[in-house]
Amino acid sequence: MTTAFFSHDDCLKHTMGPEHPESPERIAAIISYLSDTGVGDVLDWVRPDEITRDQLLTVHPEKYLHQLDLMQPTRGRVYTDPDTAMMPDTLRAARLAAGGNIEAVDMVLSSQVTNAFVCARPPGHHAERSKSMGFCFYNNVALAAMRALTFHHLERVAIIDFDVHQGNGTADIVGGDERILMCSSFQHPFYPHSHVHRQPENIVNIPIESDCSALAYRKAVEAGWLKKLQDFRPQLVLISAGFDGHRLDPMAELNLEVDDYRWLTEMIVSVASDHANDRIISTLEGGYHLRALAESVNAHLEVLSAVR
Ligand SMILES: [Zn+2]
Repeated sequence: MTTAFFSHDDCLKHTMGPEHPESPERIAAIISYLSDTGVGDVLDWVRPDEITRDQLLTVHPEKYLHQLDLMQPTRGRVYTDPDTAMMPDTLRAARLAAGGNIEAVDMVLSSQVTNAFVCARPPGHHAERSKSMGFCFYNNVALAAMRALTFHHLERVAIIDFDVHQGNGTADIVGGDERILMCSSFQHPFYPHSHVHRQPENIVNIPIESDCSALAYRKAVEAGWLKKLQDFRPQLVLISAGFDGHRLDPMAELNLEVDDYRWLTEMIVSVASDHANDRIISTLEGGYHLRALAESVNAHLEVLSAVR
């Protein structure tokens, strides 16, 4: 039993401009570093297929999907919000990133692998049911949750989102769905400035002040999430893995280090071990300092791939 690693070259063809932080270089930096450390050698590398229309419709309405199809240009770029651009290769990349999440759920739930990491882009957790924003088009982690609940008939799925930005899209989609427990930590007040005070019972928000110490972050997350997760007894744990809370990240003001991401991963692994038969699917969200991102993902995968 191993850790599956999903990635596809065509996810690197989506580019939002030379200065844009959500760049193809993020994936390249991760893959190159995993090769340097040897962690890449123990992973089961998978090239995902595109997600199907029917699978997208489990989360996003046809009208929204059709709007995106119409907006994608045949050349140049169009902006869906001030930060988010589409170009001719965007939706193919988004369908591959989402497809990787679907296939990861299928492989983990059929015991082909213990757990999986989807190293793809564009990310997903800011995409609401009917709104693309924050570099996101399709909500990858919500699509994975729906695959587990509706296709595989699980009853309880946990989503843990430790990206430095609140996963407003995921909250929009899963809020009030009692089959899902979403545990989230994020810098606050901060982008996207939504869904923080609207708090359905199945969403556990841990807002973190800027410049908070890593130790205080760990204490807040442990106190806020752990008992809720244990009581919920998830049959599968999904991670929206954003690494932009790293001290060096240019987009935020938290002080996490590689060891804090290792610690977070170990905590999640222990919950999955107690309740979910070790089943975890982690999907890449943010992380914009290339070296810090690569080192953090490497540590995340060291922990995931050590689960036997
Ligand atoms: Zn982020």
